[in-house]
Amino acid sequence: MKILVVNAGSSSIKYQLLDPDDSGPLAKGTLEKIGQPGSFLTHTVRGEKHRLERDVLDHSAGIEWVLQVLADPELGVIRDVREIDAVGHRMVHGGEKFYKPTLVTPEVMDVLVECIPLAPLHNPHNIKGIEACRRILPDTPQVVVFDTAFHATIPKHAYLYALPYDLYEKHRFRRYGFHGTSHYYVSREVAKHMGREDDPDFRVITCHLGNGGSITAVKGGKSIDTSMGYTPVEGLIMGTRCGDVDPYLFIQIMEIYDLDTRQVSNLMNKFSGLLGISGVSNDMRTLEELMDTDERARLAIEMFCYRVLKYVGAYTAALGGLDALVFTGGIGTNSPLVRRIVCSNLGYLGLKLDEEANERGVGNKTLRISAPDSKVEVWAYLTNEELVIAQQAAEVVASL
Ligand code: AMP
Repeated sequence: MKILVVNAGSSSIKYQLLDPDDSGPLAKGTLEKIGQPGSFLTHTVRGEKHRLERDVLDHSAGIEWVLQVLADPELGVIRDVREIDAVGHRMVHGGEKFYKPTLVTPEVMDVLVECIPLAPLHNPHNIKGIEACRRILPDTPQVVVFDTAFHATIPKHAYLYALPYDLYEKHRFRRYGFHGTSHYYVSREVAKHMGREDDPDFRVITCHLGNGGSITAVKGGKSIDTSMGYTPVEGLIMGTRCGDVDPYLFIQIMEIYDLDTRQVSNLMNKFSGLLGISGVSNDMRTLEELMDTDERARLAIEMFCYRVLKYVGAYTAALGGLDALVFTGGIGTNSPLVRRIVCSNLGYLGLKLDEEANERGVGNKTLRISAPDSKVEVWAYLTNEELVIAQQAAEVVASL
């Protein structure tokens, strides 16, 4: 089977063509600067990266170009776009309406549009990607896979906010959680490695630490709590997002600086987090390079790790103990320093890091980094959201 996975953003389209039974993509790439001068496509095939340039007016023209490249005699991997069995689309927010991968129909499109207010920065662009593919590949099944879906199993006492209950009833204000495909993938893979795939009592905490970050408590393969909330702002300290803050502070800041909602949204989304604290960068690599000479770079790293540690403690309590801790995302897979700082405070769980394995574990796909006698296994694991989307799209198509 060949599944095209599409992740459409405001001015970009990421794509991979995959066989869902094989973890490596046949081809992948990113089209950037859609609707701007100088659009370009970075396309990787057979281990080689190619940069192609062409002005692309909108997402529809973008998808057309991607399909042309995939079927190109030199750069492509298929002869005809009809070889594509299905398209799997990443959709950020499915609200309470969607809790599993869903075949796109005209009725589903209407409901997806109703979900736009839940994620106004992401969902409209995801929808543009779906519309473009439906137009260009009208006979190919389109499946939407939601970032929120894995968290549909979180119980009500964990997903509700302590606001007047009718706000939830009227507006569905609640925790939804994100990065669901990543948390699902790494928790499932580590359960497989540990031979506990079907164990309903298996307790794992997955730390997806990238420019955006979230932590999830997973019991018996099901998400029972997660750190991101109604939006991806809540929870961990991120590259430029603040994570947990006393909500009353924003009222004060708005009053003192006479800010409108857009400005305060920018403050919490674009100028906070690692960037806000360090004043120099949202990039963990840069902060690690500066930490010996720049006090605020060091402080940003310490705060970042402390917040992760607090959530690990809270979720260990929610799970009633811990069998495995998984690090993924750009920071989680690549930063031995962050893993070491977090784990150095978890000795009380009987968790022991294998220092040497931890240092080796840069970008490694499946590396156990705990000592053999550790009571909790610790893993650095490369996530593969595209593979999950391809597998789930294939399952939906197989069930038709
Ligand atoms: P992501 O959003 O998952 O692509 O992750 C991006 C984050 O991963 C950025 O903060 C990067 O600085 C960080 N990152 C990537 N490689 C490394 C590395 N070798 N050491 C520390 N952080 C890294």
